[in-house]
Amino acid sequence: MILVLEYVLLLGWLLPLSWCYWSWYHVAPRFALLDAPARSFMQVTENGHRRFCDICEVFKDNRTVHSSEFGKCIPMYDHFCGFMQGGVWAHNFKAYLLFVLLIPVHGLFCVVVSAWTLSQPQYRLILGCQIVALVLIGLVFFVSAIFAYFLWKQFLGRNVLYTEECAPIRYYKFESSDMIIRRDVSKPTENPWNLGLRGNFAQYFGPWYKTLLFWVPSPVVDGNHPVRADLTSLVPARPIALDEARWNRRRHAATTGFEGHEDLENSTVVRRQAAHTF
Ligand SMILES: [Zn+2]
Repeated sequence: MILVLEYVLLLGWLLPLSWCYWSWYHVAPRFALLDAPARSFMQVTENGHRRFCDICEVFKDNRTVHSSEFGKCIPMYDHFCGFMQGGVWAHNFKAYLLFVLLIPVHGLFCVVVSAWTLSQPQYRLILGCQIVALVLIGLVFFVSAIFAYFLWKQFLGRNVLYTEECAPIRYYKFESSDMIIRRDVSKPTENPWNLGLRGNFAQYFGPWYKTLLFWVPSPVVDGNHPVRADLTSLVPARPIALDEARWNRRRHAATTGFEGHEDLENSTVVRRQAAHTF
């Protein structure tokens, strides 16, 4: 009975982990990069330009980040996981969250079983090994539980990516508005994608009956990120007037010789000489 549970728990995190790995090395390379459609609520550069990747040469969608490890723009790229040796992105978010949750669950199970065997007289001969194993497993449980807590809090509690947190100042534009709003996404109240616990859960896991189906990607994979309903009332809070909304990057580059480029490492807008003139 214990052995069956052990295998179930082992597969419980091993299968989502394998899926994450497969997603990064086989799905991500086949992911076609197209110019993002104009959306009614768009993440823009400080000057109100559409975000453009100079390496991939596409207009970036909301929450799309260029991954230097991968050399390509990745939707909802969060971080490169050293344990998995792969990246966490829109396609494998759900599996990754289940994987990090089930590691400490398995760890806790091993701690309980180890503690129980210590109390059994027939196992006394290998007591030293048992104590060492218990301490090691306890340590794995402790570390993985802390890791799981922070990751779940980050995605479900605040709906913020690690890459977004590294460059927290973001600019957004409503289609109908000539204003851009400046938000510090590291603050939960200012993050436009933070829909509250229930909303965030639905974003990452879909309907409740699909929660454990790690191979069914999250709804975030389709690129539609619902915006907080109360955000429109926040627009006049700190608006920045635009001199001119230049939506066509190439025309802009042709007239000025410069093009907007968002540097994702530090979220500052740098101006650089246009590579092409038209
Ligand atoms: Zn790119």
